[in-house]
Amino acid sequence: MDSPPRRRVVLLTTSILVGMAGFAVARCSSEGDRESSSPALLLVTLDTFRADYLGSAGHPRIRTPWLDRLARRGIHWTEAVSAIPLTTPSHATILSGRSPRSHGLLKNRMRLPDAVRTLPQHLGEAGYRTGAVVSSRLVLGPEFGLDRGFDAYEIVDPEGRPASGEGAFATAAARAWMARAGGSHSFLWVHYFDAHLPYLPPKPWDRLYLADPDAVGRARAHDLQASMRDEGDIDRELVAAQTALYASEVSFLDHCVGELVKQAAPAATPTTFLVTADHGEGLYEHDRYFGHDILLYETSLRVPLIVSSVGGDPTSRAVGGKLVREPARTVDIAPTFAGLAGVSGASFEGRDLLRDPPPTGDALQFVAETHPSRDKATPTYALRTMSHKVVWEPRARRRELYDLALDPGERNDLSDDPPRHLEVLAEDLERDRRVRPVGTPRTIDEMGGGVTEDVREALRSLGYAD
Ligand SMILES: [Zn+2]
Repeated sequence: MDSPPRRRVVLLTTSILVGMAGFAVARCSSEGDRESSSPALLLVTLDTFRADYLGSAGHPRIRTPWLDRLARRGIHWTEAVSAIPLTTPSHATILSGRSPRSHGLLKNRMRLPDAVRTLPQHLGEAGYRTGAVVSSRLVLGPEFGLDRGFDAYEIVDPEGRPASGEGAFATAAARAWMARAGGSHSFLWVHYFDAHLPYLPPKPWDRLYLADPDAVGRARAHDLQASMRDEGDIDRELVAAQTALYASEVSFLDHCVGELVKQAAPAATPTTFLVTADHGEGLYEHDRYFGHDILLYETSLRVPLIVSSVGGDPTSRAVGGKLVREPARTVDIAPTFAGLAGVSGASFEGRDLLRDPPPTGDALQFVAETHPSRDKATPTYALRTMSHKVVWEPRARRRELYDLALDPGERNDLSDDPPRHLEVLAEDLERDRRVRPVGTPRTIDEMGGGVTEDVREALRSLGYAD
């Protein structure tokens, strides 16, 4: 097993970052200069991937050698957070550089308004070839508008239902696109869905963290969702086994990313990888729950974020390997790619992580929210600083306060006797909701006559049970 590398944790000024990590940035002084200095751009979103399930994040057991290698060569933001733990809205934020309140998608299966411009549109106008390989038609199909700006938008969803090892299909399609259309002035988005419920890692990854084959079989056969609908606790052995299967999915996804690295490594043009997730996953730490859509704990909100360069002339690449404990958000991803491509004039909410200074003061407050499509769950909001957090579910009159610096696992709710600064944070959150009320977000199903039984059953198969 790889041991986590010992590395410095640093706070960086971003003007240093670009030169230090050796990321080629397009310059437009002349066509020849631009051609030679523009990297291929690759966005990898690992759906449902927890920030702490990485060797490079210090996890003592999870094997992610390829992602660790990317982190060693590049930059790993350890404090990256998602704005919403729902696949369709979170990917809309990643691709548009806008928060859910700004682009308007607050639930799964909503459609991106036509007025919202996306990163691939900006890149296409700058002469980039753009492609997407997406692993879930149910929540990322073209009907939701996230295909906007892509020359090609390939859905890799052979069964339309969760399948074991389906990341291999996305990998093959992505490698084919890279061989066909990659290189300078190309942008590819690859989305993997394997770590999402139900956890069905392929062989041999399914036994990486469970030595007993019978335990693997029992865990895979168990109806986890039925267990969670019951009010009682699941037995500890099953929780451990399901968590091990989730970890196996993580390691399988690491293998898939490795196949993309192998495709990019021999190319003369370097490829800049940005690897992240749309949200994390709760593994029964809170409220007897596996999943991500109804809770705003750090397990759901924190995501990996690694930028790293692969291929090209290795002598031109300065040493990377930086863990950055600066705030970073998924809304920062589109402006960071725009910066790498030398695209200016685009309007994003986020910052270019490689060039713009990190936020300070009030700008360090991040709002997250969720609007689950379940009968028994209601909208929930969170306001987070680098050290503290408030969670508020107004309809349930639930408020939780955490000191993340002292209690990163959010075990000690301080709401019964809150410190004054946490009360202020809670007031800020409630004021924010009053100032910016949400209407009634409507999915394409609700706008078109209701959820069909096919869609309902597909959602249920992914753990979005009522
Ligand atoms: Zn997702």
